[in-house]
Amino acid sequence: MDILDKLFSRELNRRTGERAIKIDADKKASQKNRAKSLGENALKASNGNVQKEKPKTSLLHRLDVRLPWLKIVAVFFIGLVAILDLLDLTISRVYDPYNKISIAPMSKHVRITERNLEGKKLVALTFDDGPSSETTPTLLKILQGRDVPATFFMLGYMARNNPDLVKQVKKAGHEIASHTMYHQNLIRISAGAVESDINEARTILTDILGQAPSLTRPPYGNINDAVRKNVGTPIILWSVDTLDWKYKNTDSIVSITMSEVSDGAIILMHDIHPTSVEAVPVLIDTLRDAGYEFTTISELAKIRQINLTNGTTYYNLKP
Ligand SMILES: [Zn+2]
Repeated sequence: MDILDKLFSRELNRRTGERAIKIDADKKASQKNRAKSLGENALKASNGNVQKEKPKTSLLHRLDVRLPWLKIVAVFFIGLVAILDLLDLTISRVYDPYNKISIAPMSKHVRITERNLEGKKLVALTFDDGPSSETTPTLLKILQGRDVPATFFMLGYMARNNPDLVKQVKKAGHEIASHTMYHQNLIRISAGAVESDINEARTILTDILGQAPSLTRPPYGNINDAVRKNVGTPIILWSVDTLDWKYKNTDSIVSITMSEVSDGAIILMHDIHPTSVEAVPVLIDTLRDAGYEFTTISELAKIRQINLTNGTTYYNLKP
């Protein structure tokens, strides 16, 4: 019985042992597989991270790696633009829709106030009845393109309708003056009506610009005591009437001007007519060819050392 017991017990132990070893082996194998699989996953995950990190390298860096010559081209191009800019060759030309031409630009490095006026005959271009959103912006481009300052006698109600344009005219270096509120014939209305018309225009322009208009031109050039008393600025009329509103023609505007112009002339035009705006580039070039240069009324008075006084009428600013 003992022997049988022992044999049975040994056999049992052997089998159990074998099974234990097998289980252990299986367990190890399974662990190994699991570890392997985990390792692969970890590797995959880390590969994934590497791929995700790639976009962090800048576009410039990648361009630099792939297209090393691009940097040289870019530096060359920037240098070229800088040199052309210094030489004033990159300024866009101004297109004039009326003449259907692009206007030769003047140097952007020359400001209106830096023009050399010494030894020049001087004239003042003046534009009445605007500003008009249809014609004044083109005139501004033409004047800017030729570096010509002008004086704008604005109507109060036109200014009220185009406040941004009024600011634009001022910002471009031109002089803003009053042409009254509603273009009434001031010698045909009461003194009270004259006063309120003039004051209304002054208020509109002052509200837009933060400063009162420097000069006044009564409509039709009609002046009486009520006008002189209420105007509060010098009264500016003209010495050259281009009759631009009547003939609506460049040749006629230029020929009238050239036959009547002299040093210190004040030239009357209207910026509400496309035909007047169209004539301006030709008029400027013709006057320049004849030795004239352009100033605003106040600048011209200063140069001529004429002290403009309120309520006094000026037809020209001769030396
Ligand atoms: Zn007018």
